Amino acid sequence: MTTKAQYLSYPFAEFQGDLQEVTADLPQPTGTQVLVRVNYCGVCHSDVHLHEGFYNLGQGKKLMLEDRGIKLPVTLGHEIVGEIVAAGDQAGQYATGPVLVYPWVGCGSCSVCQRGEENLCTQPAALGVYKPGGYAQYVVVPHPRYVMSIGDIDPVHAPLLACSGLTTWSAIKKVGAIYDDEAVVVFGCGGLGLLAIRTLALKGVKNIIALDLDADKRQLALDVGATQVFDPTMADATQQIQAAANNKCVAVLDFVGAESTVELGISLPRRGGKVILVGLHGGEIRYPIPYVITRAISIIGSYTGSLPEQKELVEFAQKNNLFNFPIRTRPLKEANSALQELAQGKVQGRLVLDNR
Ligand SMILES: [Zn+2]
Ligand SMILES: [Zn+2]
Repeated sequence: MTTKAQYLSYPFAEFQGDLQEVTADLPQPTGTQVLVRVNYCGVCHSDVHLHEGFYNLGQGKKLMLEDRGIKLPVTLGHEIVGEIVAAGDQAGQYATGPVLVYPWVGCGSCSVCQRGEENLCTQPAALGVYKPGGYAQYVVVPHPRYVMSIGDIDPVHAPLLACSGLTTWSAIKKVGAIYDDEAVVVFGCGGLGLLAIRTLALKGVKNIIALDLDADKRQLALDVGATQVFDPTMADATQQIQAAANNKCVAVLDFVGAESTVELGISLPRRGGKVILVGLHGGEIRYPIPYVITRAISIIGSYTGSLPEQKELVEFAQKNNLFNFPIRTRPLKEANSALQELAQGKVQGRLVLDNR
């Protein structure tokens, strides 16, 4: 008689309810699946939104996540670093040693997925959203193509590559060419904003203007490579920021996504510039249509990133020291309090759950 191997996971059974420790039989990967032992898993701001169960659409309206096909219970965690410990008989070759999991899995067969944009598939199967994620000791991944070696990237930092890293990478790619006399404005100096500033600095962008309400976060932004920082609620914000940009703001990257930041953000770019919206704080955009046309600005939503972008970013992170800001680890068992801490805005830098 053998006892089946078991593992712990930390799902929530109702939106806004506590994460509960659950013991279950360890799944056996079948077909192309691989089983990944989770070593580290990032705690992300989108986990907070998922746990709340809605996005704020402004004017008292909410997008309920249950209506988007998210089924309870949910095991959060889409920033997963670990190692493959078992594979189904169709899995073929797979990465060994420390790996990062690309979580934004789609159906794999529709035209969107075939274009390489699985993160935008209309039948999403993202890990930690639609399928169980990394707030657990183990996670099942549908195919080894989603699992890539991280080489000698610090495994405590590497989880950030799957979400905040990928999201910022994809957002920055949407800017296109940035010339030496041009400025990029970054709203929000939390995890995403800091990573964006660091990435822009490593890519050689000369004028990086960072905005945050919090003076400590503005200091962190300077530490990671921002050239100028401002409080966005200052008087004459548009004029002051445009002056700091020498009227050459080529793009705004908004990692807050509130009505106040988007309203200010749209006012900033030069003609032909871009406003790239990433943050999901919520609200509505109201802006005169003729100005969008005469200023030739683009307002672009950016949601995570593609599998090819994930691979580019892992390569970039192997050659560049991306992570020079605070990352705190917490034992996996403390997933619930870690999520609450993030929801209350108490976290500087990033939180990573540790399951070694
Ligand atoms: Zn698809
Ligand atoms: Zn995330």
